[in-house]
Amino acid sequence: MKVKCLRVRRAVAGKRRVFVFDASGFITGLDSLLHEGEIYTTPEVAGELREAEVKKRCETALSLGRVKIESPEPAHLKAAREAAASTGDLLKLSKADLSILALTVMLKDRGFSPTLISEDYAVQNVAEHLSLPYASTVGRIRLEVKWTVYCPSCGRSFQSSSELRVCPVCGEKLKRKAWKRRRLKGET
Ligand SMILES: [Zn+2]
Repeated sequence: MKVKCLRVRRAVAGKRRVFVFDASGFITGLDSLLHEGEIYTTPEVAGELREAEVKKRCETALSLGRVKIESPEPAHLKAAREAAASTGDLLKLSKADLSILALTVMLKDRGFSPTLISEDYAVQNVAEHLSLPYASTVGRIRLEVKWTVYCPSCGRSFQSSSELRVCPVCGEKLKRKAWKRRRLKGET
């Protein structure tokens, strides 16, 4: 009898698990969380993704319907801004930071069970204040990224530690890309 009651209660409380990503979420958490629940983010965060590979993975997940981009409503933005003002974090938060806090509030209002994924202490602090679940990075898997610097014109690559800004051969501005991602195991 007790077991039955428990089950019913769980079913009632069983809200759909979703994640709200900031830019760091897409770098460290996309692979590991993709199958755990839908991933939400805002246009501001999507616009912050710079690395070609991260952008590409995000676009693939978007086309598969695993990532959803939504804007929070003004009321949720107001709630996020007020919470940030009361914790003293408002000045530290970008428009993108506020947008994901507001989006998490909105998803919670809609009956989802959202977890905000951000490595930013100010964002986490405001999430705490709003009683929103958050995590700095995902599960036990972290990625170590190694960078290479290359010339988009001739394709020559250079040590990432080099202080070159432009290609010594063609004078083109050098770009950076991740050439190696290593999964790190351990506590976050
Ligand atoms: Zn070059």
